[in-house]
Amino acid sequence: MPRPIQATIHTQALAHNLNLARRHAPDARIWAVVKANAYGHGIERAFAGLRGADGFALLDLSEAQRVRSLGWRGPVLLLEGVFEQRDLELCSRLDLWHTVHCEQQIDMLATHKTNVPQRVFLKMNSGMNRLGFAPAQYRSAWTRLNALPQVDEISHMTHFSDADGAKGVAHQMEVFEATTRDLPGERTLCNSAALLRHMDATAASDWVRPGIAVYGSAPDYPLSHAAQWGLQPTMTLAAKIIAVQNLQAGDTVGYGSNFCADGPMRIGVVACGYADGYPRICPTGTPVLIDGLPSRTLGRVSMDMLSVDLTQLPHAGQGSLVTLWGRAHNGAVLPIDAVAAQAGTLAYELMCALAARVPVVLEE
Ligand SMILES: *Cc1c(COP(=O)(O)O)cnc(C)c1O
Repeated sequence: MPRPIQATIHTQALAHNLNLARRHAPDARIWAVVKANAYGHGIERAFAGLRGADGFALLDLSEAQRVRSLGWRGPVLLLEGVFEQRDLELCSRLDLWHTVHCEQQIDMLATHKTNVPQRVFLKMNSGMNRLGFAPAQYRSAWTRLNALPQVDEISHMTHFSDADGAKGVAHQMEVFEATTRDLPGERTLCNSAALLRHMDATAASDWVRPGIAVYGSAPDYPLSHAAQWGLQPTMTLAAKIIAVQNLQAGDTVGYGSNFCADGPMRIGVVACGYADGYPRICPTGTPVLIDGLPSRTLGRVSMDMLSVDLTQLPHAGQGSLVTLWGRAHNGAVLPIDAVAAQAGTLAYELMCALAARVPVVLEE
């Protein structure tokens, strides 16, 4: 028998969340962002739920190839553009649209041999200071691109640093709009947080680029919870209890003895550890569901196991199913955001860190 741990990808929930994104941006087209192997879900596994998108945005050329191999003939956008000259040949061959964020990428295009001009997304650095042309250089980059026979339509793109927080997007939108106002071309501004929280940014977008919301996490947790946005979990991680221990006051649990019982307790040992992608840093008290009922972790997470409290759950024992995040069989949900918060990180990181050794099943 394989080790009793499994991740489940929920196809219906992906489709539901994508629809929800569409309702927030009824006039825009939607890039389903599937970088990082669809945020750890697996591009091939996520595809069934996301095929209603208008395009797929990602950044690895190998991932673009996989999307094409799935039979997708619609738009595919490389969010970081090309990394070297020969990547442009693949763009021509697979009909990939690509971001242009720096002069070197324009240089590569200028020497690219093709009879079919390419669609590009010119990226502005409107304040994030990651990728893109500064506003003062943006128009000359556009003029240079526009003069190239290798380039077809030019769209405009920027990315927000604070769509999920108090600073908001207005300052970046102002810069973006002032610089692009009289330039032709479509515009794309919004990640998940901007799409859900900033209607003006959504209204200014011909394309929106939701990632994390499509995967059922609230981009502004803990300000909002996924359920408040109507988002459903798309990934469940669950494992079984493989041993039970009875403790007395003073007994300790796991490495470093950092949990100590203050009275009689029953604990379960679960077949999930940090080598499966469950964060080692999660402290005692991190929420879990045991047979769909709420409980908590105890002591340190080890490589292949972690411990949970069964004291209040007399029916739970060896073989009980523990949901580490996602949806339990009784329909109860443990938001991945709540586990990520205990680890001092975001659901993005937990999803992406699901380990290769965990078997994944697709639920229709
Ligand atoms: C990852 C990414 C997104 C999606 O962001 P979410 O916060 O997951 O919605 C959108 N645009 C760009 C440029 C990205 O890199």
